Amino acid sequence: MALMTGEQYVESIRKLNLNIYMLGDKVDSPVDNPILRPSLNSVKMTYELAQQPEYEDLMTTTSNLTGKKINRFTNLHQNSEDLVKKVKMQRLLGQKTAACFQRCVGMDAFNAVYSTTYEVDKEYKTNYFENFKKFLAYVQDNDLTVDGAMTDPKGDRGLSPSKQADPDLYLRVVERRPDGIVVRGAKAHQTGICNSHEVLVMPTVAMRPEDKDYAVAFSVPTDTKGITMIIGRQSCDTRKSEKNADIDVGNKVFGGVEALVVFDDVFVPNDRIFLNGESEYAGMLVERFAGYHRQSYGGCKVGVGDVLIGAAALAADYNGAARASHIKDKLIEMTHLNETLYACGIACSAEGHPTKAGNYEINLLLANVCKQNVTRFPYEIVRLAEDIAGGLMVTLPSEKDYNNPETKGYIEKYLVGVNSVSTENRMRILRLIENLSLGTAAVGYRTESMHGAGSPQAQRIMISRQGNLPAKKKLAKAIARIEE
Ligand code: SF4
Ligand code: FE
Repeated sequence: MALMTGEQYVESIRKLNLNIYMLGDKVDSPVDNPILRPSLNSVKMTYELAQQPEYEDLMTTTSNLTGKKINRFTNLHQNSEDLVKKVKMQRLLGQKTAACFQRCVGMDAFNAVYSTTYEVDKEYKTNYFENFKKFLAYVQDNDLTVDGAMTDPKGDRGLSPSKQADPDLYLRVVERRPDGIVVRGAKAHQTGICNSHEVLVMPTVAMRPEDKDYAVAFSVPTDTKGITMIIGRQSCDTRKSEKNADIDVGNKVFGGVEALVVFDDVFVPNDRIFLNGESEYAGMLVERFAGYHRQSYGGCKVGVGDVLIGAAALAADYNGAARASHIKDKLIEMTHLNETLYACGIACSAEGHPTKAGNYEINLLLANVCKQNVTRFPYEIVRLAEDIAGGLMVTLPSEKDYNNPETKGYIEKYLVGVNSVSTENRMRILRLIENLSLGTAAVGYRTESMHGAGSPQAQRIMISRQGNLPAKKKLAKAIARIEE
């Protein structure tokens, strides 16, 4: 099958029999649900851009497994140029959606699972690498979206998986059968699960031999029996389901949602198992996935940042403040911070290296520096955007009042900025800034910047491991002429 169009993708998701709950009810038609649909539209954009000749080089490539043309979101990176293009593609998607487009988690999982299963098989003569290659070729051929699922609920953070009071707080194998395994547990914060055809599950922490039932990786279709998705609550989420909602949503077309995904005794056939008890490889898989996803943020968050900087600049124009030197300087600072994130994303890609399996991995130190900056800079960029936007961003009347003839005149008259711009357009740009800084998109742009792909401390541990202080001490000794 060739690459799917956006519409074909939407229809392929419609065919799934997903078990989704939201706001107390079962969701019968997630594709048409007004709260969920914007997040589907963001993934749809990964299909639409791949159809456009001007983005072909960035959005598509040739599979090393099949030799066929594939969407880059299903690619195994073959060189540093591939890694750089990945980041550029993510920036582009961030610019086009101003939201999380969700498909990167699967891409990052593919590259981590591919290289790890290769090394597990070498040691244990298992068949995980072949299983995974077969699965990925199927994903590529059918242009599927795959949710990469890593984060377990984790219960008591001071206890390892097998020591938890409830043994299901980390996802585990509860039964081994001749034809496969049965798993139980949950994955939290799952971006894009309800817009994915498949879920690719990985362990979430390094493990010891006593945790071997928790050292499991596999993939199953998202509508497999036993899987339940419970959608996370977002600030301002029900604005999307208000009748004729438009201005108040801030970003009417695109969004992202997350879910708690429960695996209640889900069966996984043997050919879909990619790790099953080899506990010492759990850490390698986690580290590699996290590395790729920390690189990813140097693209996607930058693209969203581009939109936010543009919105802040427009707010300044509409307020008549664009010529003020402090406004210009704030926009420069926002740009500086945003491009610093991008520079890190590109740097860790350009310094990539081949894994033993042959696909390319980023420079882990630089990827962790990238993500550490992402835990900080979007907050400052948002702060500056709010500073420029002014208080009206949070005190603006609703669009219902704007559309009510009794109040519309007052709003038009008193909430106008510069005379050449309509009050409606001023409202639209302020609502977009609100959406990104404290509305539904703040989940992705702010808090996910903090905790996604691992919380800040996780990167600091990696930075300390990769920073190579002994080598730096040696340099200092040589310059200071200190003899060993
Ligand atoms: Fe992709 Fe960014 Fe969303 Fe992660 S947060 S899935 S990298 S868009
Ligand atoms: Fe993420």
